[in-house]
Amino acid sequence: MGLYFSISGLCFIIILMIVFFSKERVKNIETSIYKLLLILTTVGLSLDILTSVLYNCGFDYKDFIYMITSKLVFVYFVSWVLLFSFYIKSISVSKKNKTKMLTNTFYVFLFLFVIFVPFILILPVNFLEMDGVIVPQGLSVNLTYLLTFLLIGYSLYVAIRYRKNIAKNKTKPLYAFVGLMIVNFFVQNFFPDLFLINFLLCLVVIIMYFTIENPDLKIIKELNLAKDQAEKANQAKSEFLSNMSHEIRTPLNAIVGFSECLLEAPKLDDDSKGFAKDIVDASHNLLDIVNGILDISKIEANRMDIVSVEYNPREVFNSLQKLVVPRIGTKDIQFKMDVPKDLPGVLKGDVGKLKQIILNILTNAVKYTEKGEIVFNISCINRIESNKCLLNISVKDTGRGIKKEDMDKLFNKFQRFDEDKNTTSEGTGLGLAITKSLTEMMGGRINVASNYGEGSTFRVYLEQDIISMEIPESKTEEIEIDYSLHKGMKILIVDDSKINLKVAQNILKPYNFNIVLAESGYEALEKCETSTFDLIFMDIMMPKMNGIETLRRLKEHEGFDIPVIALTADAIEGQDEKYLNAGFDDYLSKPIDRYQLNKVLNKHLGGK
Ligand code: ADP
Repeated sequence: MGLYFSISGLCFIIILMIVFFSKERVKNIETSIYKLLLILTTVGLSLDILTSVLYNCGFDYKDFIYMITSKLVFVYFVSWVLLFSFYIKSISVSKKNKTKMLTNTFYVFLFLFVIFVPFILILPVNFLEMDGVIVPQGLSVNLTYLLTFLLIGYSLYVAIRYRKNIAKNKTKPLYAFVGLMIVNFFVQNFFPDLFLINFLLCLVVIIMYFTIENPDLKIIKELNLAKDQAEKANQAKSEFLSNMSHEIRTPLNAIVGFSECLLEAPKLDDDSKGFAKDIVDASHNLLDIVNGILDISKIEANRMDIVSVEYNPREVFNSLQKLVVPRIGTKDIQFKMDVPKDLPGVLKGDVGKLKQIILNILTNAVKYTEKGEIVFNISCINRIESNKCLLNISVKDTGRGIKKEDMDKLFNKFQRFDEDKNTTSEGTGLGLAITKSLTEMMGGRINVASNYGEGSTFRVYLEQDIISMEIPESKTEEIEIDYSLHKGMKILIVDDSKINLKVAQNILKPYNFNIVLAESGYEALEKCETSTFDLIFMDIMMPKMNGIETLRRLKEHEGFDIPVIALTADAIEGQDEKYLNAGFDDYLSKPIDRYQLNKVLNKHLGGK
């Protein structure tokens, strides 16, 4: 009967070997040990079958055959347990020092093998016939059992002691081995002629295959691990970029602020004014790049939120046109804009991102067109019953166009084409990647059609909520700033950076305010204790006590009703909501835009 078990075990193991060796495998120590275990188990089962065959063939030297084959089986058994214990050790060692620790264990096991195997071969073995079953006994057998117990004890110790290093299902084969050996002990008591040990070892190898060593499982695991690591690295990179951009914005704030002050300085000669203008332009360019990096890193770190607000789309499209047309400069380009009559008067959506998307496409059209025309066309489909408006915004240019082979890569990060022609147009290749991500985040679509050498058309489809079809009365926004309006009012500026305080002070100079400075949240609290202010500008990122905490403490004072404006280098559009929720009355992003500043001052100090 034992013979049938051995033959079926051998068949199984051969199939397993074919599957195992025909697949691509992960190359590591565990897989190599498993490979040896597979081969060794095949040898053991073949030995079993050979012994039975020889014994049943009716040869004369039965005792001799028994002695030789049983000793070979003992050596096989010891080798198998040694390899198995080595396997358990290899999965328990942490990655750090793995090679060194395993080399040491390997030499110890080799030493045990070299010392014990000759004894197993030399020491006597007797065969007792009990109830017609031949049972091997003697020192050789005892030594084999002793070594097996020691090794399995050691493996159990390793598996328990280092359980934190071992993945959950990796110890299953060890417990299966111990369990099967106990089962074997009882089975042999009832059926002494059933010699099952080799078949059980074969079962352990099969269990190992299905729990750990299946090459497919292993490769999937390795791939998942690599994916996790790549994702973590990407996250770290995004955070680094985001922090860096934030840090860069702070000194940039000073450069933009001071160069704008220089531009307005009365005693400056024309040359110096020209230089100041160049500094302003260059720093605005740099700011665009930093904002791009900040945006892409926020998108990749999933930290970009959709902030829906009500807006007048006509005003938005007009302001975009006003922003873009001056960038055409001296180029021979005609800019046309077409807004449909049925465009709703008030829509709701993330207007900050909508502006960013359109501005990117319009700026590209201007950058990559030398002459001809740019048509900024808006059309819409209004579904009144569901209050939805599908905006279809297209920007068509007669510029250099995009080659067919570049179209697939157009929306990838850092991709720029026709670099030889790009000498005059700045860019990072981030614009369209951001545009696409933002459009998709808002549930929209973007596509492009282009003929190389003739021009391109970018189309964006975005759904927005209709708030009203009525066109609201347009608030004519004052371009001329009336500096005399708030003269003498008392303003507190809170910022931990001296240079930022100086910039803010300079920008506010024309208003003739009575300005008080505070370099920390604590100082601001102190100043507010001793005097009252008409308005406070509060930086957000300050050490020890940030702007939000300072505001919270200020508001603890009964009757505190001074408008507090958040000043932050966090230039993400649509962040207003965050600061308004934190209790601020308004929000200004650094570098401070004079026009926005004036709007905020008029709103909170009274004015037009
Ligand atoms: P950037 O403009 O900063 O290089 P973008 O991501 O906005 O980055 O654009 C990627 C590239 O796509 C550009 O470098 C340019 O080669 C090409 N491209 C974008 N818009 C146009 C356009 N309207 N006409 C021709 N090429 C364009």
